[in-house]
Amino acid sequence: MKMEYYLCKKCMHVISNPVCSECFLKHVNEWLAGRDIDSAKKKEVVNELKRVIEISDEGLSDIDCVICHQNTVDFCTYCLVLRTRWVLKKLRDKGIVEDFDDIFNYAIWTH
Ligand SMILES: [Zn+2]
Ligand SMILES: [Zn+2]
Repeated sequence: MKMEYYLCKKCMHVISNPVCSECFLKHVNEWLAGRDIDSAKKKEVVNELKRVIEISDEGLSDIDCVICHQNTVDFCTYCLVLRTRWVLKKLRDKGIVEDFDDIFNYAIWTH
């Protein structure tokens, strides 16, 4: 068993559950698709997320994504979640942010 650990390049916390930006965005998109937001706004959110989250494709680390095992991961999910919340807050819809917290703080990242 590998005992190495990796630090997030943004917040310097240990990455315990490495998920690449691509897989993370995919989950966010799936979640968004089921929400009651008009499609123009959804598009806006997705584009903005791509801008703020897809920052990790430089391949600097050699830690594999636990979901796709193809991309490397430079940032912890906490940082990804934090950035997504910033973007979602711009929608000025409290329900959306709360729903996001519910889903992404527990369901997806705990297994
Ligand atoms: Zn981090
Ligand atoms: Zn991945």
